[in-house]
Amino acid sequence: MALSEFELIARYFDSPDFALPEAEGVLLGIGDDAAILRLPPGEDLAVSIDTLVAGVHFPADSSPEQIGHRALAVNLSDLAAMGARPLWFTLALTLPEADEAWLAGFSRGLAALARRHHVALVGGDTTRGPLSITIQVHGCVPPGLALRRDGARAGDDVWVSGHPGTAALGLRQLLAGGARDEAARVFAEPAPRVALGLALRGLASAAIDVSDGLLADAGHIAARSAVAIALERERLPFSPQLNSLADRDDACALALGGGDDYELCFTAPPRHGAAIAGAAADLGLACTRIGRVLAGQGVECAGFVPRAGGYQHFRGG
Ligand code: ADP
Ligand code: MG
Repeated sequence: MALSEFELIARYFDSPDFALPEAEGVLLGIGDDAAILRLPPGEDLAVSIDTLVAGVHFPADSSPEQIGHRALAVNLSDLAAMGARPLWFTLALTLPEADEAWLAGFSRGLAALARRHHVALVGGDTTRGPLSITIQVHGCVPPGLALRRDGARAGDDVWVSGHPGTAALGLRQLLAGGARDEAARVFAEPAPRVALGLALRGLASAAIDVSDGLLADAGHIAARSAVAIALERERLPFSPQLNSLADRDDACALALGGGDDYELCFTAPPRHGAAIAGAAADLGLACTRIGRVLAGQGVECAGFVPRAGGYQHFRGG
């Protein structure tokens, strides 16, 4: 690399762009052999890690800003789905070459989202190889308040935030190379629902972020909670972009099977419905009741036959 590894880290990651006014709990950040971090007193640590590989997790021609944004967004989304408050992250970056224009864009996209969510970059690793980005996020949650997948109970309502399927429509537009609308932006810049996750502490009985498709991800709650989930097609919250599709079955397939929205799907006892609606209104975020939790197993949406069970790596064949 023309730029030495240390110059690269100093210029793009140990940089003022990532500096937070008060980086909470960072006793020692980038520059030593390990970071030293302190959790808020009495809180539990929530940890999650995700890898993005070019051409698999984002289109190979995505802008570096978008890749930086997405790499952190998908991780923050996992903390959101746990009701955890993001504090810190680490970054393992594998690059074919030290392309400074790429690094500047990547670092800009990453830092913008990090600042928005007040999450500090506290370390990482930089190596040469095919482009791949791994981020581990660390957050905190008071004991017993994490939104797990296994807490759904028969009689609960099933909710979803935002308008799932819009990102998949946006990806389709990007891959087709034709006209793009708001859907393409929703795909390119997913907004992790961190504030909603925090608001759902003590209200939701289970939660997951919608990365693989609503039906598949609701299915994970059903499996972990040993319950059945019944979604109602008429209740699905179509975005204006999905509503503009003439083929309603196509719109429905996108809403139920499209991944990459990073909305939250969650369950809650009906008595919490008003509080959830109030929290959603405060956040200016649509939250819609889309079904019920029942005794039994599996997930279904009456009137819809899935074409595939969500995106899976290492699917057989
Ligand atoms: P070591 O050889 O001890 O693993 P490195 O040379 O890999 O140390 O890293 C030096 C410092 O820079 C460490 O504090 C490490 O956490 C940090 N670092 C390395 N790469 C990155 C990166 N991509 N983003 C943020 N910090 C990084
Ligand atoms: Mg290292």
